[in-house]
Amino acid sequence: MTFSLSNTGAFNDDKRRVLDATDIVRVIGDHLALKQKGREYVGLCPFHDDHTPSMSVVPHKQIFHCFSCGTGGDALSFVMKYHKMGFREAMEHLAERAGIKLAPRSERRASSPIPHEPGAAIVERSALIAANATAATFFRAILNHPEHGAAARALVERRGISPEMAAGFEIGASPDMWDGLLRTIQSKGMETTPFRAAGLLKTRDTGAGCYDSFRNRLIFPIHDQLGRVIAFGGRRIDDEDEPKYLNSPESELFNKSATLYGLQQAAQEIRRTRRAIVCEGYMDAIACHQAGVTSAVATLGTALTIDNARILRRLCDRVVLLFDGDAAGQKAAERAVEVFFAEPVDVRIAMLSAATDAKDPDELLKREGGRAILDDVIAKAVDPLDLLFARVRDRIGDQGVSGRSRVVGEFLDQLTGLGLHRADTIRQQLIVKRLAQITGVEWGAITGELQARRARRRIPSAQENAAPLRSVPLTAREHLLGCVLNDPGLLHSLTEDQSPMLDPEGYSDGPMQEVARAIAALVVDEHPPTLEAVLGVLDDPELQQCATRLAREVERMTGADADLLHHHWRDRLRDALGDEVRSGRALARAAPSRSHNDSSEKNATGTMPDSLSRLTTLRDVRQRMGTDTRAVPRAGPV
Ligand SMILES: [Zn+2]
Repeated sequence: MTFSLSNTGAFNDDKRRVLDATDIVRVIGDHLALKQKGREYVGLCPFHDDHTPSMSVVPHKQIFHCFSCGTGGDALSFVMKYHKMGFREAMEHLAERAGIKLAPRSERRASSPIPHEPGAAIVERSALIAANATAATFFRAILNHPEHGAAARALVERRGISPEMAAGFEIGASPDMWDGLLRTIQSKGMETTPFRAAGLLKTRDTGAGCYDSFRNRLIFPIHDQLGRVIAFGGRRIDDEDEPKYLNSPESELFNKSATLYGLQQAAQEIRRTRRAIVCEGYMDAIACHQAGVTSAVATLGTALTIDNARILRRLCDRVVLLFDGDAAGQKAAERAVEVFFAEPVDVRIAMLSAATDAKDPDELLKREGGRAILDDVIAKAVDPLDLLFARVRDRIGDQGVSGRSRVVGEFLDQLTGLGLHRADTIRQQLIVKRLAQITGVEWGAITGELQARRARRRIPSAQENAAPLRSVPLTAREHLLGCVLNDPGLLHSLTEDQSPMLDPEGYSDGPMQEVARAIAALVVDEHPPTLEAVLGVLDDPELQQCATRLAREVERMTGADADLLHHHWRDRLRDALGDEVRSGRALARAAPSRSHNDSSEKNATGTMPDSLSRLTTLRDVRQRMGTDTRAVPRAGPV
């Protein structure tokens, strides 16, 4: 991997404009619930298995940073990492969000090459997105087509879906023909490849040509959290057709088990009420929204997965699983417990069959008073563990000691199979305690049984599963970079002996050196190297993460106090000089032969000139920045 600045010292104009028009709190707040804490916001980090809010979002610096896993950067970095987007894709997304037009791609490329321009995989993603968007438009048009949409419209009406819901969920239809979409694609002169990759077209068995995958179906576009269509669900219109529901295949864009239908429409209400309702199908989710329960989403033909729970728990505290009938109940309870062990979210099970003979929420909500019954069912949702415990109670009956021990053993096996080891210690202890109460078996005996199972299965403990710790501690020189990012005015205090401590060549290859280079390039450009400015010239999320970590670690150690920061700077300067003397580099540096870069002008990669001219530059900067109000009392002679 090669690192380079986005361009030679100057800001990437588009990037600046996009970031200026973007509020990082809102961008990140769309994906996780943020709570205000002083001047910052905190939330659960989506980049590691976070159980306490470790992610900070700092509006006045327009950055985010996780103290647990170290991920950090600006809004672009967040979008690139969260949505696995390339730089350009993330720029386009934020630009569109902010209503900004980017410079045309060819022009931009010629004037300022963007490093890490997405490779083949990314091009593939954007092509898939474009194909899905084209298909979604086509399906919408078909639903309104006098002839080809008639049967679908009749089904929509029969199912009681209101025009508002049909529009809000962008429902469409595929015509009853083999080449409806195909002909549209051909008439637009588009390539069929991305449509095949997205599962919208299928290749004929003969290998020559292709045909529509969705024929004569009511189409439900499936969106990601950004509102882009990533897949389609198709419900049959003719009851003779099989299967009843047909989904797009999984692709680079679409991971079925990590997607929730309707999340884009429901996210706001889920964050507001801190509760999500999870239904079993599209129709149920839409019926809920139509009845005003707008925090409803649906899983895609699966039980709630751990991935689903992970997305939801960043938005809310409680997830209510809405099930139609008893049959699936016990199984559902087991799956819910499994999720509950893995993710710290309060999962509840609401069983429709306990309160009504309506076969699903859709049917219930079409009835008089249906909404009140649904609200009641949701309010009475139970802890899935209670369902499992109820079964234990049944099986215990009037059994003797050995029978009770056997039931306990079997139950522990079941829980271990569901991932009890993933649950935190408090949850494990609560379970042991309740099991002891129900069965009358000693707490100690149950704990012993549990430990024996764990040892037998060699299951890693919760600690072993914990997020990786922050990387190695910062060196004295790295601290210096962090200090400068917090207050570029510190550069004023550098003496002649000290200034080489910030020489990019003195940092280990990789992100650290690139951050030092970015700082140097900004100084040469007469721009104070604040964290924000440095992020402005670094496009690579890995480099941004490094710069953010440096700034935040120093900020944390000094409590954002100017005096403490100044002391920290002086102490680390002394340490860095000490390290230098010990390693003998100071001598080598003094030798005239050491001239790794003999130009006194900045070169194309933004590398600093050699020590002497660099010092001159720094002195110039010092004079120019003398009026900077952030400058701290000067330690060294000017
Ligand atoms: Zn993290």
